[in-house]
Amino acid sequence: MEIGAAVTAVKGALDLARNAKDVNDRAQLNAAMSDIMGKLTTAQSDLLDLLTEHHRLIDENRELKSKLSKEERFDQYRLCKTPVGHYIYELKEEYVNEDKPAHAICVKCREEGLRSTLQEGDYSYYCPTCRTVADFQRHPGFAMSSGPTYNDPW
Ligand SMILES: [Zn+2]
Repeated sequence: MEIGAAVTAVKGALDLARNAKDVNDRAQLNAAMSDIMGKLTTAQSDLLDLLTEHHRLIDENRELKSKLSKEERFDQYRLCKTPVGHYIYELKEEYVNEDKPAHAICVKCREEGLRSTLQEGDYSYYCPTCRTVADFQRHPGFAMSSGPTYNDPW
């Protein structure tokens, strides 16, 4: 459905009404009136469809805007590799201030749209939400880091 169809129908009805105003024959007038009503009905139905579509687009726009502002929160972070090869999102220096100290958030939770601040231990970051551990230093007594551990069922 297009706005053009409704405009055309209204214009057609107007033309018919203009021509009909000088018609004296009752039967011709009735026929013209019926045409006019038909065109106006089409226009009304098209406009109702357009209104429905308009509201749907407004809702969709609102939803996308809210998604976008959620994503924008993450623009303040950059993906960083720790010295032992694990990944975290660190708050960019330009966003560090009195109210927002330097910190990192969880890579796994970020993928799910959550901003989960990592707790810092002696050797690792720890996510209190999904329990992901990201090492930034090798644990003493371990020759190799075992990679990030997840709380997944497997
Ligand atoms: Zn997490």
